[in-house]
Amino acid sequence: MMKIGVLALQGAVREHVKSLQAPDCEVVIVKRVEQLNDLDGLVFPGGESTTMRRLVDKYGFFEALKEFSASGKPMFGTCAGLILMAEDISGQDQGHLQVMDMEVERNAFGRQRESFETTLPVLGVAEDIEAVFIRAPLIKNVGERVEILAEYNGEIVAARQDNLLACSFHPELTTDIRFHQYFVQLVRESLESTEQPLAAT
Ligand code: GLN
Repeated sequence: MMKIGVLALQGAVREHVKSLQAPDCEVVIVKRVEQLNDLDGLVFPGGESTTMRRLVDKYGFFEALKEFSASGKPMFGTCAGLILMAEDISGQDQGHLQVMDMEVERNAFGRQRESFETTLPVLGVAEDIEAVFIRAPLIKNVGERVEILAEYNGEIVAARQDNLLACSFHPELTTDIRFHQYFVQLVRESLESTEQPLAAT
């Protein structure tokens, strides 16, 4: 049984929990740092990235989250979660966790388009993912190791770097769970690849 946590400092936590359901997956709501220890994967929900960063610091999560990603365990960030994971944030001196090699721009759609919905093809997931954007960021640049999974009007809105997955929109706010199940599969595969082979008898 794999264990996936949803960081519950702020944002749409319960919606993520629902979308992660799988027969071989236990989903945990993460409120304390110690809970990270026995997780196989972690989701960063949307919300407000500066508030979330403040809470990450306040509850002592910063170093533990850096360690979590350094261990190669899968992480999935949506919207503000994506901003937390980015190496660089346009117009700011420094990113937050800086675990994924990309530059993001916050609130990149301007005031007129604060929130909207569209359907997008997402590489490796499906041709018709329903994407809900809410004061969403865009991925402006990506490093060599980052694979672009989805674009909207020529701008990057979903990407993957090894076991790290991020999107500008909110797949948890729809009934379509395919994007989350793609992450569950990623966690499953990362566990299979780290399993010790049985000793020869
Ligand atoms: N605009 C928010 C931020 O910059 C993100 C919005 C969201 O997560 N829905 O953090």
